[in-house]
Amino acid sequence: MGHYLDNAATTPVRPEAAQAALEAMTEGWGNPSARYDLGTRAADQVKLWRADVAAAMGCLPEEVIFTSCGTESDNWAIQAAVQLGRHKGRHIITTAIEHSAVLNPCKELERQGYEVTYLKPNRRGTIDLEDLRAALRPDTILVSMMLVNNELGTVLPVAETAKAIKDAKCPALLHCDAVQGFLKVPFTPAQLGVDMLSISGHKIHAPKGIGAMYIRKGLKLPPMILGGGQENGLRSGTEPTAQIAALATAAKLGQASLERDLRHMEELKAYAVERLTAIPGLNVLVPDGAPHILPITLTGYKSEVVVRFLSDRGIYVSAGSACHRGKPSHVYAALKLPKKQQDGVLRVSFSYDTTREDVDALASGLAAAHDQLFPSLS
Ligand code: PLP
Repeated sequence: MGHYLDNAATTPVRPEAAQAALEAMTEGWGNPSARYDLGTRAADQVKLWRADVAAAMGCLPEEVIFTSCGTESDNWAIQAAVQLGRHKGRHIITTAIEHSAVLNPCKELERQGYEVTYLKPNRRGTIDLEDLRAALRPDTILVSMMLVNNELGTVLPVAETAKAIKDAKCPALLHCDAVQGFLKVPFTPAQLGVDMLSISGHKIHAPKGIGAMYIRKGLKLPPMILGGGQENGLRSGTEPTAQIAALATAAKLGQASLERDLRHMEELKAYAVERLTAIPGLNVLVPDGAPHILPITLTGYKSEVVVRFLSDRGIYVSAGSACHRGKPSHVYAALKLPKKQQDGVLRVSFSYDTTREDVDALASGLAAAHDQLFPSLS
């Protein structure tokens, strides 16, 4: 597999999670809505898996609704909050460094006549609370703020934002995209004070095609998908039991080894900073932040060229976020990095199974890139 250092883009499925999915597909494959024992057993399993995910998230099982991915959770939270708040106002606050799963629904709402304030990041790549406080209005119906930025690894002040909303007696609901924060930065939704929170399976060693949304108990959100009434009537569609089984297994195992895994990633990140900063022209953009993401820049070089150079040697990192598909990153642009630095940004991201050898391979690869590639003229 080479040296995989792009765990913020996706993670390999843990064998235990794959095994749980296989069992759900080949043994407990009944429809959870069916009334005979194959169905009721599947329904009982879903109940247990929901409890496992809730335990890992630090909330009640009835506060967890399974979705198909982080993007779906984000879209739902935003649309539902706006629908709920339509008699209170038409103003939304989010940040300029959210994932496109939040930014694009907000842009769509702007087209429909809503007003959206995009809070700009400070130099450290996070949001100043004073800016948030100044943006809150009596007609603000939603604040959507991510917990960990996917390109920088910075941790945003979500709990402080919840407090500011309360202090301002603002009617806004608070949504948090915690796709990069789940099992990387310890939190519970109650500690953060959020109303809705999104997570995604494939960032925590479960397969793609499964996510979840936390909805605070008592908050009556409009449904995402209408149909047979699954997921408490909020997200219809026969439960994807294999994906749920895998998500629950990955979440449970991730929670069980959380402290050890975080320490491992912190140590690796410190080691990577030490090794990589020895390369001429290489700068670390954000040395602190979440333990699994390290944004670096090889000033003067084009990141896509470096990514290809490294991948030819079996070393995998991303040129900023994989979701940009070649477009310049809005996050690095919002940070106002000099163009030569922006062009050369690479995102290195770790997991519990990343090793020092992976980091050593990256350091050698980048040193070779520095020596063998031509700096870009732009
Ligand atoms: N939000 C953040 C911060 C992400 O990093 C991602 C994925 O890269 C998403 C949302 C989208 O999640 P998914 O790929 O499950 O749709």
